[in-house]
Amino acid sequence: MSVPKNRGILIAGNWKMNHGPAETQKFFAELEAAWPSLPDHSGQALASDQLQVCLFTPTLSLQAACAARGKLPVHVGAQNAHWERSGAFTGEISGPMLRQVQVGSVLLGHSERRQHFGETDEGVRRRTVSLLEQEFFVMACIGETLAERQGGQTRAVLERQLSGLFPETGSQSGAARFLGSRLVLAYEPVWAIGTGVTATPEQAEEAHLMVRDFLDRQCGPETARKSMILYGGSVTPENIDSLLAREGVDGVLVGGASLKPQGFLALVAAGARAVGSKPA
Ligand code: PEP
Repeated sequence: MSVPKNRGILIAGNWKMNHGPAETQKFFAELEAAWPSLPDHSGQALASDQLQVCLFTPTLSLQAACAARGKLPVHVGAQNAHWERSGAFTGEISGPMLRQVQVGSVLLGHSERRQHFGETDEGVRRRTVSLLEQEFFVMACIGETLAERQGGQTRAVLERQLSGLFPETGSQSGAARFLGSRLVLAYEPVWAIGTGVTATPEQAEEAHLMVRDFLDRQCGPETARKSMILYGGSVTPENIDSLLAREGVDGVLVGGASLKPQGFLALVAAGARAVGSKPA
């Protein structure tokens, strides 16, 4: 998986701790059966890489997902991975292990990892840089809490998290050199995740502009222009069109609404509608 030149659209699902191997097999069987119902232009968008689709499954379901997806154009990714390649890190998984099961994408720094498992900006940076150097496609998450937003801290929090990921200036340093190819960012306001409260399209656009503005200053205008930034937080088939229509929203990361094949397919169809219908 890689970022196309004009960014395109990426529809990603995060199953969190849902769907073991058996449910995963069932999901893909149903998805495959329903796939032909996608409008024709979806196939064209997918074939041209302007639309990309990825599902981040639980670790234990990765192999089942890779086997069951068959010929469907759905990438399979892990929900975390350690920066070390092996060693005394009980409960963790590594890049080389993911490679063994043909997984090439990883979600990192999700707010649930940060909130419940104490992941820090520095830990997220180490994981991100290591997995990118191992040639993975990485989606790194950032986002403010409700208290931070209400306290007028949104920009400051996003910039703190982004400075954690990109501590040095320049387009060629650390993780920055992978923006526009194998690193994408997901803006996920914590107050919108799993709550049913979606950011308004205006709020999403405003935050995405803040992120791109930071990238412009820290990594340079060319890197900022080619960076993909996704929105995540209670996205559904009902609200996805209005979010994807906003400037700088290059896709979505979806939890709850990605768990059922029909719902996920509706998100993919919305991604296809958005391809070509918006300025970069
Ligand atoms: C997520 O898991 O990243 C997420 C955005 O979840 P939900 O869509 O359920 O809010």
